[in-house]
Amino acid sequence: MAAPNEYKFFEAVEKSFDIAAKFTNLDPGVLEQIKQCNSVYRMYFPVKIGDKIEVIKAYRVQHSHHKSPCKGGIRFSLSVNLDEVMALAALMTYKCAIVNVPFGGAKGGITIDPKKYTPYELEKITRRYTSELIKKNFIGPGIDVPAPDYGTGEREMAWILDTYMSMRPGEIDAMGCVTGKPITQGGVRGRREATGLGVFYGIREVCNMPDVMEKLGMGTGVEGKTVVVQGLGNVGFHAAKFFREGGARVIGLAEYEGAIMNLDGLHEEEVFAHRKKTGSILNFPGATNLAQSTDALEMECDILIPAALENVINGANAPRVRAKMIGEAANGPLTPEADEVFVKKGVLVVPDMYLNAGGVTVSYFEWLKNLSHVRYGRMEKRFTENMNSHILSQIEELTGKTVSDKEKEFILHGADEVDLVYSGLEETMIGATREIMDCWKKNPSIPDMRTAAYVVAINKVGTAYAELGIFP
Ligand code: NAD
Repeated sequence: MAAPNEYKFFEAVEKSFDIAAKFTNLDPGVLEQIKQCNSVYRMYFPVKIGDKIEVIKAYRVQHSHHKSPCKGGIRFSLSVNLDEVMALAALMTYKCAIVNVPFGGAKGGITIDPKKYTPYELEKITRRYTSELIKKNFIGPGIDVPAPDYGTGEREMAWILDTYMSMRPGEIDAMGCVTGKPITQGGVRGRREATGLGVFYGIREVCNMPDVMEKLGMGTGVEGKTVVVQGLGNVGFHAAKFFREGGARVIGLAEYEGAIMNLDGLHEEEVFAHRKKTGSILNFPGATNLAQSTDALEMECDILIPAALENVINGANAPRVRAKMIGEAANGPLTPEADEVFVKKGVLVVPDMYLNAGGVTVSYFEWLKNLSHVRYGRMEKRFTENMNSHILSQIEELTGKTVSDKEKEFILHGADEVDLVYSGLEETMIGATREIMDCWKKNPSIPDMRTAAYVVAINKVGTAYAELGIFP
């Protein structure tokens, strides 16, 4: 657990839960059950690194079993601790409920600095962690399905899959034991960028709400809005990309080594390439270096996207934040003290719990693909194209007019896997945004959007428990 004066993430989640629970009509016993982490597994295992044996500390927490399997990422970071994993597992339960993904929440983590190990050593650690999960029945397509998180990606997911398949030979649905895999290993197209794209879809939907934008003193739409992104990893990079492509101006980018700004806009791919070449985002041509990385959080902008780690905006720096709207792409980047500051200042906080649900939504699509053993679009793409072609030629024949080649290409196109994944994600994020906003509008005494999101989530999980017959 966290030391006495350390930030307690799980307590912060519980605090938000308690505030929201008052706006539900659920039995106190049901609420207590929803709040608890059902299964907590802390493990130590030895791994030979060089000529030394290192004892590695790791965790897997299953927060809720109201739906099976459980689902949640695996984090590799020195800051991983039980409190953090419990909090993130709880957030996964609420996140899945909001976006109607039928999983219970889980999270895992290994307390290591992945930068200190070679790929071979990381592979050994990941495989050993996976076998520990298998031994305790903490992984499986119908039990608990990990995914990438901070410090992990497709490579680690492929190692997890391979370890699982070697230890469970012949299990027909084994591919569904982990998501976020490379395409060649059963991954789904669109998963890599899913969280960043979901952040964009969610914020775009809020920006398209005239009443909300009016209150914030902004016009509708994403186009022309200024954006600052903290963290140029998987989530931050793709969020920046989709905002730029959507017509917004990304005027600030922060990484742990520093931050840069350019009021004319930054191109995330160029900054990424510069970082790869020089080892830092600083001194990017045409941009100004900020004195400290955290200064980016205090830049004047329309939308601030913290996409690195938790607790980066707190009671201390929140009063200095000048964004009109904050989109929590990372998990838990704002503390409850920061929330209070923003409610008073009239800054809209779009909460992590649903805004970064793009990853788990597309993970759900990947899991379904693995269970059905067929690529999305394979059965219907050609049929749709033939049908569209037939309809178009009939229209052209009847009207005597022809459409341009560009239009023809667009109309005839049958959906590929990535088209279906993007469209499913867009529908999910738009639906979730509207559901949360409707809940907030119906009950104006709900203080903020985070509480409204919790209310939606708690009601759904509570109903599921009731329908399971666990509570009378
Ligand atoms: P990542 O490891 O790919 O990227 C994180 C980036 O943040 C790295 O580039 C890192 O250098 C940078 N960073 C670290 N400390 C920083 C600091 N103090 N200031 C600025 N930058 C800093 O991780 P990710 O997968 O992009 O995850 C980021 C956040 O999003 C985490 O909170 C994670 O839990 C959350 N999240 C990720 C996913 C996903 O699909 N990957 C899904 C939901 C939520």
